Amino acid sequence: MKITNVEVFPLTSQRPTLKVGHPIHPSWWGYDQTLIRVETESGISGWGCSGVRWEMVDAIKKVLWPHLIGQDALQPEAVTERLHQWTFWYGRGGGITSYIGAVDQALWDILGKHTGLSISRLFGGRYTEELKPYASMLFSWPVDEMVRNLESGLERNFRAFKLGWGTFGRERNLKHDEELVATARKTIGDGCDLMVDPGGSDVFWHGDLKWATEAARMLKGYNVRWFEEPLRADDIEGYKRLRDASPVHIATGEVIRGRLNFTPFIENRACDILQPDQTICGGLSESRKIWQAAYDANIQVVMHGWNTAVGAAADLQLSASMPNGMYLEYWHPAPYVSGILANPLLLNDNGMLPIPDGPGLGIEIDVDALRAHAAGADDFGA
Ligand SMILES: [Mg+2]
Repeated sequence: MKITNVEVFPLTSQRPTLKVGHPIHPSWWGYDQTLIRVETESGISGWGCSGVRWEMVDAIKKVLWPHLIGQDALQPEAVTERLHQWTFWYGRGGGITSYIGAVDQALWDILGKHTGLSISRLFGGRYTEELKPYASMLFSWPVDEMVRNLESGLERNFRAFKLGWGTFGRERNLKHDEELVATARKTIGDGCDLMVDPGGSDVFWHGDLKWATEAARMLKGYNVRWFEEPLRADDIEGYKRLRDASPVHIATGEVIRGRLNFTPFIENRACDILQPDQTICGGLSESRKIWQAAYDANIQVVMHGWNTAVGAAADLQLSASMPNGMYLEYWHPAPYVSGILANPLLLNDNGMLPIPDGPGLGIEIDVDALRAHAAGADDFGA
């Protein structure tokens, strides 16, 4: 079944207005989401999500066109591994890896639709039928908006929450950080899971090992489930030391690309929880290998998923197929997650999310709703 086309769907409706911002912290620095639809001669198509802006996806699509068009859509891993190999001299990371990851998701979706099986079954079977989704949102100061978002998450049955970025760790004032976390814990109560993510992949992140160690001890008092990216993303030795010193679990990995770049984190036991992002690290095939290596080293895995319904569906399928799948990151509130599906992902009364078992990713995209998020795409950056 030959691949005949790749259609690019920009997601631009949530982009901040482009302006020349602060020299260190510009208003926008390019992290974005783009969906692709891989089409075949049989009429079956599949969806993938790339964690880079659409202009880059469109350019990479043209560069890789001769390597992809005409390939067999029913061989996801063989096709995408060839793309990794053929782009060795200019790929091995960045937008190239993110694009190949989206193609990989789409090809697994196609293989599932062709065989009538969900991707989790194609991966060997399902260890669970549901995951605990955590509502992933930002800190705010003053806290009003954060409290409103937490309350709206509770109303949607979320029983786990992750708060990130904002002013946490940026005021160089642990009392301020504690006030944010205390407010969050008070709002959601003791019965919900709470995670904290300062965002160490922010530009010129300054949080160091001593700050992170003190913050981790503070977080223990609020029964925080994990402390995410408190250090800069590549500081493997720092993460190793922090993991040894911290009373709460340490999580990291969202910006790492390619399975070989995860190896030192796994071999050095540099975290308790590894967080590959399919839309960044290389899709389902690559994430599956990373997860297996982490599992064998007794490191937990929770996929990072600050992206779209396509990314969430891919995370659900992969997590179901691994023996220790626990959580799903569910960006909330987020129109790219809740607003582009004809069959929305809904939590049950216990705050759990049933994992789709339909063919492929098990979702149906509302293409009209999707196109509505591309408004103004051609004007951006002109
Ligand atoms: Mg994070």
